Amino acid sequence: MKLINVVPRVLQNLDNHQFGKCNICGKNTAFLCIDVQSIRNNMYCPFCRSSSRKRHVAKIIIHEVIKTVSTIAEIPQTQALSIYNADIDDAFYQVLHQRNLYICSTFSPEFKPGSEMRPRVFCQDLENLTFADETFDIVITEDIFEHVRNHQQGFKEVHRILKPGSYHIFTVPCNFDRETIVRVDTSGKEDIHLLPPEYHGDKIRGKILAYRTFGIDIFDLLKNIGFVTKIDFSNYLDRKNGIFDSYVFCSKKV
Ligand SMILES: [Zn+2]
Repeated sequence: MKLINVVPRVLQNLDNHQFGKCNICGKNTAFLCIDVQSIRNNMYCPFCRSSSRKRHVAKIIIHEVIKTVSTIAEIPQTQALSIYNADIDDAFYQVLHQRNLYICSTFSPEFKPGSEMRPRVFCQDLENLTFADETFDIVITEDIFEHVRNHQQGFKEVHRILKPGSYHIFTVPCNFDRETIVRVDTSGKEDIHLLPPEYHGDKIRGKILAYRTFGIDIFDLLKNIGFVTKIDFSNYLDRKNGIFDSYVFCSKKV
């Protein structure tokens, strides 16, 4: 997202911008609203381009794991930490990409899985990660697992690469008052659509298919894999960090 492209929408939403401190880059700023209907996906920090959702993930990293800093940019050089983020060129990358503690990935059919496409950016398939067992302290996935064809295999892979007692911090669309809506039958080799196909925007690959909308049974699924999962709903106090109307899952490997 280039800010220059959204200037008209920034101007249309002057009443909806909010002041606060970005908990990723650490800047005091106005968080810029470009769509009041999907506030969790925007309210952009003009410095690091983080969205509300990404700052909520940062809040969980800071509160649950690191505990000694108030922004991601403040993580000390000496911090013993290993972070893998399944998103590239985002605000975390901007703040952390020169640090040994950070790597990230995307998937591209043009690259061999596991290859380093450029410094700190790997080609990875979440169903078949190439990382060694017990490598990371934090794995981050944002609105990805609804697009993973075999999501159980993906969650097992994340569990495998996490150190014991470490965290998968993630977001997925979830209905907390019903079971998972299976949108596509993936039991065979070919996808069989059970509902009209639902596609979500992806900055790298364009529109990608949502295989499901998660429901309350996600907690049992994660428990059976070996996670204890909490969920954090944003609250009034989170507004000071530009976090609005969102929820983040925090799964601890037991
Ligand atoms: Zn920022």
